[in-house]
Amino acid sequence: MKRKLHIENHKELGKIFIHYHGEKLENCNICGNIASFLCDFPVGENKTCDCKLCNECANHIGVNLHYCPDHFKMWQEFKNRPDFEEKVTNIINFKDLNKWAT
Ligand SMILES: [Zn+2]
Ligand SMILES: [Zn+2]
Repeated sequence: MKRKLHIENHKELGKIFIHYHGEKLENCNICGNIASFLCDFPVGENKTCDCKLCNECANHIGVNLHYCPDHFKMWQEFKNRPDFEEKVTNIINFKDLNKWAT
């Protein structure tokens, strides 16, 4: 199996992220381990990112709420915004509609 390796060094998080491109198995989209979670970041109406994540690569945001490294970065940026609380409420409401994720 040929996979393209992409390494991102996130100094601000103290982490190095390794991405495999072209992986089609039910493996973590980041490191290739068995995936345990899906990224729950909302990407549109009734849609989440669904990036497959193993326990190591999933960023635990809350109960049954996990973000992939890219979306975790976005989440961190948007946590610093003044309208953060309003947006978070929207995400939690959205999450309640998606019981599949539990
Ligand atoms: Zn992983
Ligand atoms: Zn994501």
